[in-house]
Amino acid sequence: MTDSNDESLVSSRRGFLVGVAGFATLTLAPGVMLYARAETAGAAKAAKVRWGMLVDASQCEPGCNDCVTACNTEFGLVSHGRPTTDPQWIRKVTVTDPGSGRSQTFPVMCQHCADPPCVDVCPTNASFRREDGIVLINRHICVGCRYCEMACPYKARNFVHENITDQKVYAPRGKGTSEACTMCVHRVDAGGIPACVEACSKGRVAMLFGDLNDPNSAIAKRIAAYNTTQIRSDLRTDPGVRYQGL
Ligand code: SF4
Repeated sequence: MTDSNDESLVSSRRGFLVGVAGFATLTLAPGVMLYARAETAGAAKAAKVRWGMLVDASQCEPGCNDCVTACNTEFGLVSHGRPTTDPQWIRKVTVTDPGSGRSQTFPVMCQHCADPPCVDVCPTNASFRREDGIVLINRHICVGCRYCEMACPYKARNFVHENITDQKVYAPRGKGTSEACTMCVHRVDAGGIPACVEACSKGRVAMLFGDLNDPNSAIAKRIAAYNTTQIRSDLRTDPGVRYQGL
């Protein structure tokens, strides 16, 4: 889906994007670089990979917040004392079956959709999906319109209202831009796993990360062996985050 059928507008936007590519070496702050776009680095090497996560809700403890804490630490997300606008890239939710009264808790983050509405509505192509399935935001061309936040069915995107200090070099943030879970792309491209998954592995193992396209990966084997679901699969966004035990 494009935001306009006007070819001239599309052409000029492409021209703009070609132009901004030249800004790839700009910094948000000393040592803080913008994200590399999809065509570079890990994504190009991993074109046949689709990174994903599996969350086993039956193993997720109601009182545990380790995944949220790990994410906040990894990206320097701190409360500004205003809960409605505090950054939150992963959150614990609790759902209750009205019939049985049974409750379950599990983490929800960007679902790294194969057909992401956030990318569809972005007027500057700041929202983009890498070939390996990770959905990111190029902060340098994000104009802060917040269309992506409205389009995301999973309430996964945040808006930065505050000046950001003490940024992580691997995860630039900026006031006036949208942001969301990056699936810890800086770790993944270095051969690691997301911080939330690592933190969860220290207790009951409720989160698994891996290549959904590799039938020999642990995550693919689990999905093949057990009933799993995608949240709001009816929307056909094809999330890369799967849930077990819901
Ligand atoms: Fe985009 Fe929301 Fe899907 Fe993440 S969960 S890819 S932000 S639509």
